[in-house]
Amino acid sequence: QSDEREKVRSKYKVMFDTDQALLKNQLLEQNKELDKVSLENAAQKQKLQTMLIIIISLSVIVLIFFIIRQLKNSKVLNRLANSDSLTDLANRRYTFTHAENMLLIAKKNDQRFAMIMFDIDHFKRFNDDFGHQKGDEVLRLVAKKVRENTTETANIYRYGGEEFCITAYFDTINDIIAFADCIRLAIAKLAIRKKHDITAKRAISASFGLAILRPFTNSSVLVERADRALYIAKTHGRNRIEIAPDI
Ligand code: GH3
Ligand code: MG
Ligand code: MG
Repeated sequence: QSDEREKVRSKYKVMFDTDQALLKNQLLEQNKELDKVSLENAAQKQKLQTMLIIIISLSVIVLIFFIIRQLKNSKVLNRLANSDSLTDLANRRYTFTHAENMLLIAKKNDQRFAMIMFDIDHFKRFNDDFGHQKGDEVLRLVAKKVRENTTETANIYRYGGEEFCITAYFDTINDIIAFADCIRLAIAKLAIRKKHDITAKRAISASFGLAILRPFTNSSVLVERADRALYIAKTHGRNRIEIAPDI
């Protein structure tokens, strides 16, 4: 009886062990399947992340490109808004803003500062005799001469038609007068010939008004004083420099 029982027991044990082995196998298969799925998921996630990084990087590159282009455009626009196309000098619009800034720096650093305004003499007559195109050439030449004779700390502007303005820091009154005179002489050396009649020659000259910065003056007062001195230079015979009185 005990043998019989032992036989049945071992039979059930074998059956049980087989079932267990089968279940274990099934579980292993399922685990394998799960691992495969999670591996696939991880790979897909990685793919998505890479794509996201590429998209973000491309967007950043495009954004940087547009920002640089915008900055370049605004620089060009700013230059166009502040400069004169004929002479490539700063224009009247820029004169006041820049002069006011230079003036503030001069006051802060206790530096001497002056504004020189000059106007080409009898330019209407020149245009009438030589033509407007030649007149434009004179304006370009004058701008070039002034640029050549101007130090780095000075700034030149085309204030109006044939009227120019220079703002400069200086040490002594004699220095600034000598500087203005140097420009006057450089312009006076210009002799313009007619295109089809080279014997027809016309000397160019300009009259100068010089105003020195005093405490409590702003750029428009300085311009006004330089302009008044220029007017005096015109009435006193042209091709000369007049200094605005201390007021
Ligand atoms: P003054 O010695 O008193 O300054 O006499 P002016 O003839 O120079 O002065 P006026 O104000 O009577 O004439 C200025 C002339 O400048 C008239 C105008 O045609 C000329 N002008 C202004 N802008 C330009 C320009 O861009 N090109 C040319 N070619 N001429 C210009
Ligand atoms: Mg003139
Ligand atoms: Mg004028």
